[in-house]
Amino acid sequence: MPSLSERVEAVRKRIERAAESAGRTPQDITLVAVTKNVPVDRIREAIELGISQVGENRVQEAEQKIAALGPCAATWHLIGSLQTNKINKALRLFSLIHSIDSKRLAAAVQCRAEREGIVVPCLIQVNVSGEETKHGITFESAVSDIREIAEHSCLEIRGLMTIAPYTSDPESVRPIFRKLRELADRVSELGLPRVSMDVLSMGMSGDFEVAIEEGATMVRIGSALFGQRG
Ligand SMILES: *Cc1c(COP(=O)(O)O)cnc(C)c1O
Repeated sequence: MPSLSERVEAVRKRIERAAESAGRTPQDITLVAVTKNVPVDRIREAIELGISQVGENRVQEAEQKIAALGPCAATWHLIGSLQTNKINKALRLFSLIHSIDSKRLAAAVQCRAEREGIVVPCLIQVNVSGEETKHGITFESAVSDIREIAEHSCLEIRGLMTIAPYTSDPESVRPIFRKLRELADRVSELGLPRVSMDVLSMGMSGDFEVAIEEGATMVRIGSALFGQRG
């Protein structure tokens, strides 16, 4: 089995190649290492290899890891669904919340952030594929939902996030990524306050090259770095 260092190197190379083949600058793509179910020692090793952005699905799990590694060891991203009763914790732990997946959650985050007097950088998760198992605002209602969410004065919407359907043929999900980028362009044109569409969080181990070709600025990669999860 390749070492973690070899895996990190291989993923970086693939990101670079995908960017270049799309005429993009590799530096414009941020690698977020997804560390759900990855033990702290392994995360520390990844950080020592230059991983600076780390993504976790669950607030509780992240809290323990951040306590073990120290808050400054990396920049932490929340990429999994956020329960209302974990919002306060999440606001303390994460630099970017990728998973604002409903108007209701946005309102709840606004409420907590207002009380704390903070502004929360976040992404809106869009269920582009329409799969029932996936979280996110629907593609059809996205523009109007984002207009509403943008009224919350304590949310700074930096972009969009999506999860493509699982597939062994990444080409088949290219249209999903393209639709997210086109949606971002449309939202951008609205010129909403506190809304920028600089971040497109899309692409995972099985499909990140296609996502980069379609404009991803953040890729969330777990198993290609750490191996299959048990
Ligand atoms: C687990 C997970 C990833 C990483 O998945 P891999 O296929 O292991 O790269 C990315 N994004 C989200 C939201 C995840 O839950």
